[in-house]
Amino acid sequence: MDSLHFLVGREQELRDLIQSSQRRDSVRAACRDVDVSLYHPEDGERPAEGLLAVCVGCRGRLECLALALRAEDPEARHGWYGGLGPADRDRIAAMLRLAKTATSLPDRALMAIRLGRDGWRINDVAQVLGCSRRTVQRYLRSVR
Ligand code: SF4
Repeated sequence: MDSLHFLVGREQELRDLIQSSQRRDSVRAACRDVDVSLYHPEDGERPAEGLLAVCVGCRGRLECLALALRAEDPEARHGWYGGLGPADRDRIAAMLRLAKTATSLPDRALMAIRLGRDGWRINDVAQVLGCSRRTVQRYLRSVR
């Protein structure tokens, strides 16, 4: 099945989420107990199918995908969001005719945001990412 099949009929919802500056912390990520670094394999590699299967049933799948499409550098997509990799997100961006953003965030920022939305404490996020609390707070503020 086409990896983008789940988007059929939800294009406008995705577009709205990409353009929204609202945080929706109520969405519970299905990967909250997973080491999210596993969604960021080396370039060209694909996460384990079991990990991607978690995304299929995730209530926050569309929001997760929107986060990446809103914040990442279109010229340097990395990691898997909403169960979709960089090439899939290129296809979606073209399909939605998304403008290239000038406020792209580094991949580490996206991970911080992802962990923060999963309810991780700032200290824990900083420890996992190997950066300061202040940096984590800056990343989290960048999407408010
Ligand atoms: S869709 Fe995103 S938030 Fe949901 S399980 Fe997959 S990586 Fe986690």
